Amino acid sequence: MTICIFVLLLAGLLIAVQNAFSTDGAAQVVVTVDGESYGSYSLKQEQVIRIETEYGYNELTIKDGQASVTASDCKNQVCVRSMAISQNGQSIICLPHKLIVQITGAGEKQLDA
Ligand SMILES: [Zn+2]
Repeated sequence: MTICIFVLLLAGLLIAVQNAFSTDGAAQVVVTVDGESYGSYSLKQEQVIRIETEYGYNELTIKDGQASVTASDCKNQVCVRSMAISQNGQSIICLPHKLIVQITGAGEKQLDA
């Protein structure tokens, strides 16, 4: 009887650990324009997002669990030359377009678009 309870506890613990890991993997790419939220996208879903604002456009590509700005009509092209981001807290900033692309990880509530 005691062993039974122990096994149940162990199984529960394993499930809890797995859940913790899966939440950690569900990082979101959050796009902010001019201080306002533009949208958030799963880092796991490969896609190309065209962000059009009054300042211009940025093409955000999510691939292989990384997000990067692959095209833009901004003047300095700093965002396009920025490294792809994948870690919680990393960001790509496009100053001319007032655009911030940021990774948020575990603990964040997922928003349905
Ligand atoms: Zn830019």
